[in-house]
Amino acid sequence: MAAANLLDFDLEGMAAFCERLGEKRFRATQLFRWIHQKGAGDFAQMSDLAKSLRDKLAGAATIPPLRVISEHTSADGTVKWLFDVGAGDAIETVFIPEDDRGTLCISSQAGCAVGCRFCSTGHQGFSRNLSTGEIVAQLWHAEHALRKRSNTEDRVISNVVMMGMGEPLQNYAALVPALRIMLDDHGYGLSRRRVTVSTSGVVPMIERLRHDCPVALAVSLHAPDDTLRNDLVPINRKYPVAELLAACKRYLDTAPRDFITFEYCMLDGVNDSPTQAQALVTLLRRAQLPCKFNLIPFNPFPASGLLRSPRERVVAFAKTLQAAGFVTTIRKTRGDDIDAACGQLAGEVQDRTRVQQRLRRIPVITQPAAGA
Ligand code: SAH
Ligand code: SF4
Repeated sequence: MAAANLLDFDLEGMAAFCERLGEKRFRATQLFRWIHQKGAGDFAQMSDLAKSLRDKLAGAATIPPLRVISEHTSADGTVKWLFDVGAGDAIETVFIPEDDRGTLCISSQAGCAVGCRFCSTGHQGFSRNLSTGEIVAQLWHAEHALRKRSNTEDRVISNVVMMGMGEPLQNYAALVPALRIMLDDHGYGLSRRRVTVSTSGVVPMIERLRHDCPVALAVSLHAPDDTLRNDLVPINRKYPVAELLAACKRYLDTAPRDFITFEYCMLDGVNDSPTQAQALVTLLRRAQLPCKFNLIPFNPFPASGLLRSPRERVVAFAKTLQAAGFVTTIRKTRGDDIDAACGQLAGEVQDRTRVQQRLRRIPVITQPAAGA
């Protein structure tokens, strides 16, 4: 029997694994605490388990870390890791410190099949789904690396956003156990309100998530009508705006927050006009859907052929939404100097040579890749 990856298991899965080993189910809680709360990567560290059990575990299971290709820290404190997930695939994870919280932006897939026009992951295409263990290992690595760095045993990461590479709701089977591990009091103990799944709008899976594991929901809208959204976010051809908004409304029945966050990437001359802002107001008023807007300044990359909206237009767009009573924020770009901003996460991955060149140029603390 192949060794089990313990990072793949939610608490229920871990209990079932313990039973298969001929152990009591409560061992699962002990293992969870050692792995997720204390960051143990080795059974020898688990000092309150009998030596015989530790040996048994070592023969039957592993706690495999992700291989770090690089770790960069931006001048603003943002940290970006590039992890090797094998077969030429790399994924990125970004930590964004703020005064009152620490947010980790996690990837769910290597590449993405949705193919949004403004997203460099989308341009890269789909490679594969990440396993639960690979999704959780990003949090495991970041949390314990950051604790070590600031020499603390206190929790560093308070919020998780599934806004890295990939469409989380197209990797549903792996996502749900990963969310449960994040929420579990014996795991990372994160509040449901502080774990956000961001989706381009996979309607049937929004439906399932509200039953299986309701967490905060962000929806990448980017357009006020189907014609434009079909072009920018191709999954809209399958699940048009009206269906998406109806699914969002139903989601609120069980959601831990009483609003949906709409992300809207501001593209010069494409979706940023005053008429489009007004159309968005009309759309959401008609839908009677409690929501907030998060306007994201587009992070350009050459293959997109798109440009960032000028600041004045973003501000004007925000004012129209605010005047209509919608809470609207303009996302600060963080980690610009290390290309850690939204939609830039895949750029480096495509061309490893460029990564190497860039690593040498980066004027910030650069740590050598572990194991490289
Ligand atoms: N696939 C999910 C989550 C990952 S993308 C989704 O689409 O929601 C996370 C956010 O980054 C999305 O809102 C996406 O629209 C935005 N984004 C992608 N590329 C971007 C870019 N080049 N500039 C700014 N935001 C971008
Ligand atoms: Fe995929 Fe999200 Fe990028 Fe669209 S924006 S291609 S759904 S990662």
